[in-house]
Amino acid sequence: MKSRNPNNLHIRLYGDKTLREVAKPVTEFTEDINNFIDDLVYTMYEKDGVGLAAPQVGRSLRIFVVDPFWFSNEGKKNPLVLVNPEFIEFNGDIESDEGCLSLPNIFEPVKRAEMVIIEGLNEKGEKVRYEAEGLFARALQHEFDHLDGILFIDKISKLKRVFLKKKLHDLQSTTDENGDNIGELVL
Ligand code: ZN
Repeated sequence: MKSRNPNNLHIRLYGDKTLREVAKPVTEFTEDINNFIDDLVYTMYEKDGVGLAAPQVGRSLRIFVVDPFWFSNEGKKNPLVLVNPEFIEFNGDIESDEGCLSLPNIFEPVKRAEMVIIEGLNEKGEKVRYEAEGLFARALQHEFDHLDGILFIDKISKLKRVFLKKKLHDLQSTTDENGDNIGELVL
């Protein structure tokens, strides 16, 4: 059996160009893609996230990982990988606070569907389907948005965004001339 240690990937921060691109579908489960999924899962836990999407680490691919319950589950890990996901159904509306590893120290209420059904492929390329509600449903919608270049701050009121202007400007200022933003934030 191969043994490969997963890499802790750099999280791209607000201002990074990849965060705003529409990501491309995965067409083949190559070794590179398999390794990348391992790294994505590893990085999500390293950064204490409940979800992480490929564009957040600078790869414009339709892949994300979620584990909404590991905090409340005594740290027991159960990562779910979704490749080329599609929502089948949305039901209800609910507002709750959200944060994002690409937008550190910003938490705002976002309205989302209360319940969703999503389909996609898992890390083995097998078809999977999840019916989700609560935090699970929220995490799926948040991560899916990353695949379309959408960030949760796009979904809050204009007035709230005005209050975040300085924080967003500070984050954006760490973007380099190539549009990459892997800068460590100095607070
Ligand atoms: Zn996010």
